[in-house]
Amino acid sequence: MREHPNGFHVAFVGNPNCGKTTLFNAITGSRLKVANWPGVTVEKKEGSVEFEDEKLILIDTPGIYSLSTYTIEEKVTRKCILDDDIEVIVNVVDASSLERNLYLTLQLLELGKPIVMALNMMDVVEERGMEIDLHRLPEMLCDIPIVPVSAIKKRGLDILLHAIIHHKDAVTLGDVFSYSDDLEDKISKLEVIMAAKYPNHSSARWHAIKFLEDDEEVYEEHPVDVSGIVDKSYSRQIIQSKYSYIDDIIKECLFYKSAKEAKTDKIDSILTHPVFGVPCFLFIMALVFLLTFLLGDFIKGFLETFLEWLQQTVSTGLENVHVALWLRGLIVDGIIAGVGGILTFLPNIVILFIALAVLEDSGYMARVAYVMDGIMGKLGLSGKAFLPMILGFGCTVPAVMATRALETDKDRRRTMLITPFMSCSARLPIYVLFSGLFFGKFAPLVSFMMYVLGICVALLTAFIANLFDKKKNKNNLLIELPEYKRPNLRSIRIYVWNKVKDYLTKAGTTIFIASIIVWFVLNVGSRGFVLEPSESFAASVAKFIAPILKPCGLDMWEIVVALIAGVSAKEVVVSSFTVLFSNALEGAKLLESIKAVYPAFTGANALSLMVFCLLYTPCLATLATIKKESASLKFTAFSIVFQIAVAFSMSALVYNLARLLF
Ligand code: GDP
Ligand code: MG
Repeated sequence: MREHPNGFHVAFVGNPNCGKTTLFNAITGSRLKVANWPGVTVEKKEGSVEFEDEKLILIDTPGIYSLSTYTIEEKVTRKCILDDDIEVIVNVVDASSLERNLYLTLQLLELGKPIVMALNMMDVVEERGMEIDLHRLPEMLCDIPIVPVSAIKKRGLDILLHAIIHHKDAVTLGDVFSYSDDLEDKISKLEVIMAAKYPNHSSARWHAIKFLEDDEEVYEEHPVDVSGIVDKSYSRQIIQSKYSYIDDIIKECLFYKSAKEAKTDKIDSILTHPVFGVPCFLFIMALVFLLTFLLGDFIKGFLETFLEWLQQTVSTGLENVHVALWLRGLIVDGIIAGVGGILTFLPNIVILFIALAVLEDSGYMARVAYVMDGIMGKLGLSGKAFLPMILGFGCTVPAVMATRALETDKDRRRTMLITPFMSCSARLPIYVLFSGLFFGKFAPLVSFMMYVLGICVALLTAFIANLFDKKKNKNNLLIELPEYKRPNLRSIRIYVWNKVKDYLTKAGTTIFIASIIVWFVLNVGSRGFVLEPSESFAASVAKFIAPILKPCGLDMWEIVVALIAGVSAKEVVVSSFTVLFSNALEGAKLLESIKAVYPAFTGANALSLMVFCLLYTPCLATLATIKKESASLKFTAFSIVFQIAVAFSMSALVYNLARLLF
């Protein structure tokens, strides 16, 4: 008979970046995002697996360094563990940095819940010539089962599951180690008080220690009278005792056969160099763009030819079966031109994502944040804030969510305000299109400059915000550097495929609908269907707004329509352009039809348009996320107004400078 017919709950808990999500994915076959930097899993995720006639419900939690409550991740994870539904805690430990990981382990052991340790990254340990004494280690950790695994190589997974099932009822016995007599005395007194007031409570010792650390939430959740015992916070002593015990463990259990780390150090001495670090980063990003353009455009050419053929064929086909003219227009000029136009950029997007995935997974991106730490510090933000910003190169939505890794609300809001300036992949088609049309072989350079401009505007904004800030915070928190790894093919495949799926879904939903709407508003006027889009409703509204954009050289009603439509998703700026300008999919033809309407439209205007698209209001999905994460309508509204203002001023500046040049 099964004891847990609905499955029992197992939580994966560990430091950021120790491989929890990889392990979770390997066991459950899920495809959650894995990244070689801290702070990616910000919400807990569930999955299930059956093993030895038992159903296990696995929970992937955000990475944490301790069970305090300074960050949102710590709160989420702590709440999840303390929840009585969790029957087994699997402490995922990065065996290659045992010392750092064990701090959390010691805290978990004090909870007294059943714990199994998954000693992950054993492949790295072996490769580096390290050895871990697997007999002595559990002895020093309350005899919990310790299973060496490699999430990436899928080694040891069955043994881990077996251990979980067999130890689910095994309460961790005894104390891991003892604090000073004075503290132990207080702990036992507090345990007695806890036990008297909450007889069913399972983690009395842990609570007692938290009282001594003056942990506010513990007081709130389980109020007891501790006067006479807790006269001050003992957290320093408690932390020091833990670290000195960890020292003992490391001395007894960890052995080095050779020092292979030298290689990482050598690479890092260049890539994280205080002076060359930033140029290295810019150089690498420039290479990425060159690749995105050269290879991407090559493939894009074929897709364009195919789409033109499709447009022709469908058009003739529909004509032959006497489909109404307006419907034919909608399908061919609205949907195929709009959605298809976006799909032709898929090769560029895929290459960009492969490059980002490789940079992330190898551990390089975390180093960029490290390099930026000094600069960010001067702007009143921690280097950690640069991680969400880098994520913003992919998509702003997860980037905004990743601000949860930051400690204070002020830091979070400030990072949320500047993250949308980081150029997301949806803006890439805009650059590819316009820089391709107007800048020829300098196109990759121009696009690259957009990314650099985005970073600069973001940093400048942070700088100004910091100037106005009266209560400046001192952020001297250094982020840790993950090890360099050979990028893992599976992680990259998952990453890229998820992004491509998002892109295709977006093309099939948001962009599809937006294309139809754009087509309609351009073809309906006060007298029903109009033949000339310039007589449509959209045109009359846009013509009214257009003059405002004169300083930016964007006072054309078509651009206004494209920009407004682009709030649904930034790619829509491009699809609207193709719909607006006689459905020309191919670059040269599009340029021709733009020039036919606006002979004075030059590179300066194109540049200004790109800058505007880079900086103005992000897409609706991002706005919704900002609203959700900041829990403030006022802040969201402010960020919209702020971004439009920045876009306006920057593109006016760029336009007028560029006009002097061209
Ligand atoms: P999380 O933050 O704990 O969820 O960590 P992730 O699952 O996102 O993994 C962090 C990084 O470690 C990723 O680059 C993984 O590919 C890598 N990784 C995870 N498990 C292993 C492993 O067993 N061996 C090696 N070599 N790398 C791993
Ligand atoms: Mg994770």
